[in-house]
Amino acid sequence: MTGDRPSSSDAGSAPSAGAVTYLDHAASTPVRPEALEAMLPWLGVRCGNPSGAHRMAREARTALDDAREVVAEATGVPPGGVVFTSGGTEADNLAVAGAAPPGTIPLCSAVEHHAVLHAVERAGGRSVPVDGAGRLQPSALAGVLEEAAAAGLEVGLVSVMAANNETGVVQPLAALATAIADGAPRALVHTDAVQAANWLDVATVAVAADLVSLSAHKFGGPKGIGALAARDGVAVRSQIVGGGQERNRRSGTQNVAGAVGMAVALRAAIDEREVVTARVRALRDRLAAGLLAAVPGALDTVARGGDPVDRLPNVVHLCLPGVETEALIVLLEQDGVMVSAAASCASGALEASHVLTAMGVPADLAAGSVRLSLGWCSTSSDVDHALAVVPRAVEQLRRVPLRR
Ligand code: PLP
Repeated sequence: MTGDRPSSSDAGSAPSAGAVTYLDHAASTPVRPEALEAMLPWLGVRCGNPSGAHRMAREARTALDDAREVVAEATGVPPGGVVFTSGGTEADNLAVAGAAPPGTIPLCSAVEHHAVLHAVERAGGRSVPVDGAGRLQPSALAGVLEEAAAAGLEVGLVSVMAANNETGVVQPLAALATAIADGAPRALVHTDAVQAANWLDVATVAVAADLVSLSAHKFGGPKGIGALAARDGVAVRSQIVGGGQERNRRSGTQNVAGAVGMAVALRAAIDEREVVTARVRALRDRLAAGLLAAVPGALDTVARGGDPVDRLPNVVHLCLPGVETEALIVLLEQDGVMVSAAASCASGALEASHVLTAMGVPADLAAGSVRLSLGWCSTSSDVDHALAVVPRAVEQLRRVPLRR
């Protein structure tokens, strides 16, 4: 997507040559025009509260339930299993804190988003080391499940993301679910499918999961809405108490407009997936190959071990020796290219990425790493612009001695 800035009006429209190339879709992607259009009435005159008793309230409830059905179908759970939340963070917290049976501990991979990692730590659980590509290997998980059993600890939930937000690496969920079924047969399986949902068929990928987290702003819905989808028979204890909405699993008046926008965006992502994925994968491959060829010493962070790795089609993650990520981001921004260090964090401060650390990426390499992520509306001119600008910026930065 190239334009003055990522706005709803330019989302999906033909790019105009020039100013801004947005390559940070994994952080947040523009709202799809059809999602915005569907939301607008629910932000205006269609203001009924879905918990009310009159016609306008019933209409809001119907809109919410229609949206619930879309999320249910996309995640492969019954509609009653869908709990709307304020986003992926809340869905992850709700899964870990609200679904793991009391008296048990949760486990997760070491490369989870902090929404899972911190929730697992808070619940007294631990993370399991990953391999050099950031994959949780079933044998590593089985080992930790054995250790827990030997220590008399019951593992109540294991959380493994469908795909990583920094590298795009897809986890071997089916094999991990088998390891969990063998080593902790009563444990629930949760997957954070926040990054995967735009690109992969979540119902298939997460078929072995009991709980799935989604966030709308990663697939063209608005920020501030997401869902936790739970399979039949999986109880979710509310972490927010109040009016008992969402079948007592998440109190608070629902974000009807958000849910409507989420559902329309999700439906569009699913309908267009095959075409968009092929297009974006080709763009991503051209971008990655072009940068690796044009920047001396550049390394594909995920492929540096040499193994073929299953990844999302939209992410390029590179280590650029002799460069500081923060300086590169600033320089690229001056040239109109928006990229990311890794996960964006609230403070905007760049800290060492726990994902790269867990993958064993040496600190000096990680300090010069960058994520470029494409989205549903990325174009060939985005790639051209990045290919023209990034090598030049790296060269410029390498002329100045590092401050490390
Ligand atoms: N999980 C993953 C994998 C993410 O990438 C993100 C956001 O970056 C989240 C959870 C949090 O989602 P939200 O921004 O909707 O709270």
